[in-house]
Amino acid sequence: MTERTLAIIKPDAVERHLAGTIIQRIEGEGFQIRAMRRLHLSKTQAEGFYAVHRERPFFASLTEFMSSGPVIVLVLEAPDAIKKWRTLMGATDPAKADAGTMRKEFAQSIERNATHGSDAPDTAAYEMGYFFAGVELV
Ligand code: GDP
Repeated sequence: MTERTLAIIKPDAVERHLAGTIIQRIEGEGFQIRAMRRLHLSKTQAEGFYAVHRERPFFASLTEFMSSGPVIVLVLEAPDAIKKWRTLMGATDPAKADAGTMRKEFAQSIERNATHGSDAPDTAAYEMGYFFAGVELV
């Protein structure tokens, strides 16, 4: 079933000029890019995005990092897009990520891990709506 998910190229990867390589990989794996934008989140906007993690011990650090520099947000479409993109990203902790995954290749730490991907259909809907209006998905 064709599905959409939200991907983010995080500040660590944008800062190191890895966006082009990551987008090339996304297209090479057969995803359609339905929307894409570069923006610099405020701390409040990062907190809103990660609201489900509010109680986690790393929430302050994570939202500080996510608002530390520009990110690129994308809506990706493919059959089984949520799982497909998470598989391509690899485990949250790069030390545990499989060879060939984005995080194995590009992450610097469990926090500065290069990319984000929605983890379920309800979070994908929330996250896509956080950044894009329906009219922007083409
Ligand atoms: P994801 O779905 O693989 O992105 O992982 P989570 O939803 O568990 O965590 C969200 C994001 O928080 C991760 O992508 C990391 O950037 C960060 N993060 C996760 N676990 C830790 C941790 O133990 N310490 C720190 N500092 N950051 C973490």
